[in-house]
Amino acid sequence: MSEEKSLSQTNQEAIMAEAATAAEDFGEAKRGKNGKKKMPLAGQIFIALVLAIIAGLLMQNHADFAETYIQPFGTIFLNLIKFIIVPIVLFSIMAGVVSMSDIRKVGMVGGSALVYYLVTTAFATSIGLVFANIFKTFYPVLSTSNLKYEEPQKASAMDTLVNIFPDNFITPMSGANMLQVIVMALLIGFAIILVGQKAAPAIKTINVWNEIFMKVMDMILRLSPIGVFCLLSPVVARNGALIIGSLAMVLLTAYICYAVHAICIYSVNVRLMGGMSPLRFFKGMLPAMLFAFSSASSIGTLPLNLECTEKLGASKEVASFVLPLGATINMDGTAIYQGVCAIFIASCYGIHLTAPQMVTIVLTATLASIGTAGVPGSGMVMLAMVLQSVGLPIEGIALVAGVDRIFDMGRTVLNITGDASCAIVVSHLQDRREARKAARA
Ligand code: ASP
Repeated sequence: MSEEKSLSQTNQEAIMAEAATAAEDFGEAKRGKNGKKKMPLAGQIFIALVLAIIAGLLMQNHADFAETYIQPFGTIFLNLIKFIIVPIVLFSIMAGVVSMSDIRKVGMVGGSALVYYLVTTAFATSIGLVFANIFKTFYPVLSTSNLKYEEPQKASAMDTLVNIFPDNFITPMSGANMLQVIVMALLIGFAIILVGQKAAPAIKTINVWNEIFMKVMDMILRLSPIGVFCLLSPVVARNGALIIGSLAMVLLTAYICYAVHAICIYSVNVRLMGGMSPLRFFKGMLPAMLFAFSSASSIGTLPLNLECTEKLGASKEVASFVLPLGATINMDGTAIYQGVCAIFIASCYGIHLTAPQMVTIVLTATLASIGTAGVPGSGMVMLAMVLQSVGLPIEGIALVAGVDRIFDMGRTVLNITGDASCAIVVSHLQDRREARKAARA
């Protein structure tokens, strides 16, 4: 018992030290060297977003130029994010686990988060299916000849399960296999708790490295306005005409579902289970949502998401455990997209889906979204699994591939907002549990 107490004291000290040197604030204006107020990063990102759309529309006839000369700078930015993301996930989950100093507490928080993630994702797919069926009649009849799509490598459900567990200490990190990195972080975190007081130096080290990597991430994030501009403008240049073209309806369906899910599910959850007004929640999440929209990467948005949720009042220990987990396995936007696209592709091919097939889509889309990596475009690869599960032609992916990035930007916003709502809810439930425990003692 005394051992546990001193361990948690060590954590508390580290957390306080980290708070004292907190990374630059995204939401508040800072003063520059000359004393002038600098625009907050969220504002800079927003301006970059607007400029990217304008520049993209102006470059519609020069999409190749935009992709050849502008996009690479966006790729450099994404590469830097990919470089930092493994240490961020590894150290933030380890720090999150050890900060709880109690395996039962980790189980409670992790268990609540898992249930929350699975249930909300199943809701998401169902919403996608309902709206896609309503909008089905408006879908354009597309020519389905000349469609080319290279089938991704298939993995069975059992292979997927086995592949979660690393067989090597280095490859999960070098290959950025996030599920394996999470398993590593959990195992090491649990071991540190079990070793007890002797592991106190390890806890300090983990917290210090966590802070160092967060700082590196912070430095990279300062480049985000440039990254956002360079990533987005070529997309607009390439797809601008298509936005108002034949795929507008299916895009609209997906975006309506994203909005319905956010308003109906997340608002209700943060209000009823998180004790927070939905307005406050969405306002606080705005910088992270904007970043997710531009980067189309849940993993890349993780540091900003951590910052936003903590500012909204989620406990640091819960957020640093629940958010990296969510950025890896919880993809409500992706699940919606997969449901909508399955119906869209079916109607383009003139295939009528039965009720049992719809249920299969809900189940596989929920599972597929778990296996989707939080990086741009991975949801489209997993769509193949959903289509296969109900015998739809995988080639149909070619129909939506051209505008995938536009789907992706919206689904990533929903993906990270879902993770954040979970952090708020679990944190609030955990606080209540602890208050009840204290009242009983
Ligand atoms: N880009 C999404 C994300 O990072 C994943 C996807 O492609 O659906 O959350």
